[in-house]
Amino acid sequence: MATRRPIVAGNWKLHGSRQTSRALAVAVAEGLAGIDLGPARLRGENPPLEVLLCPPFVYLAELAELVAASHLRLGAQDVAVEEAGAFTGEVAAAMLRDVGCRYVITGHSERRALFGDTDERVAGKVLAALRAGLSPILCVGETRAERDAGDTLTVVRRQLQVVLEALDSGQVSAAERQMMSVAYEPVWAIGTGLTATPADAQAVHADIRATVGRRDATMASALRVLYGGSVKVSNAKDLFAMQDIDGGLIGGAALLAGEFVSICKAAAS
Ligand code: PEP
Repeated sequence: MATRRPIVAGNWKLHGSRQTSRALAVAVAEGLAGIDLGPARLRGENPPLEVLLCPPFVYLAELAELVAASHLRLGAQDVAVEEAGAFTGEVAAAMLRDVGCRYVITGHSERRALFGDTDERVAGKVLAALRAGLSPILCVGETRAERDAGDTLTVVRRQLQVVLEALDSGQVSAAERQMMSVAYEPVWAIGTGLTATPADAQAVHADIRATVGRRDATMASALRVLYGGSVKVSNAKDLFAMQDIDGGLIGGAALLAGEFVSICKAAAS
């Protein structure tokens, strides 16, 4: 693991109820107590790991209160491009901050494939998050067909480039300050049980860092690049051992407290 402080984020997607969400958050907080993150944070030290839960919007406010005394942080699964107005069904970045949310996933492949998020729209969401003081987690990744065609790096660079070009220098500084991160999530690995090999993932992560580095070298060296796509206890350690893999974005396994906590431990070790 590189010296950057790793992040593990649990993306709960469209799962759970108020009751199961509360129970899962409490179980994860208790499980992580063994990693001794809480006292370190209370002492004002940097804990060895950042752990985020990304529940459905409606549970954010309640979970923010529930986990306030723990080391857990909250992220949303999406955010509106717009700040306010006649945009039925949208949730603005400032509203997320208002309820205690500090991170937001942008450009998840399910939003891109099912809800029309183009590269440009994703860039708009990253900007909205930065304006509101949130930390965006920008998801990028290729489909199976793109991978088979040998286009992985072309696709990932394009997805990144559109966002990087949308940022002016002030926004690049905000992205650094607010610790924007990138999640490399090969679409063919999400929810399928298939995982990129650590070496394949590392090659893409290194390319992501190099692409960001062509825009801003300081931002690139501090940038956390997470891997996502069927991460489980059985593969987490090998993935997280790679030089440019700075943690994970976890879907299915994040719904199982024990599995998720073990993945966090693998990132912290
Ligand atoms: C995800 O949805 O971001 C994800 C990585 O899911 P899974 O871990 O289930 O593949």
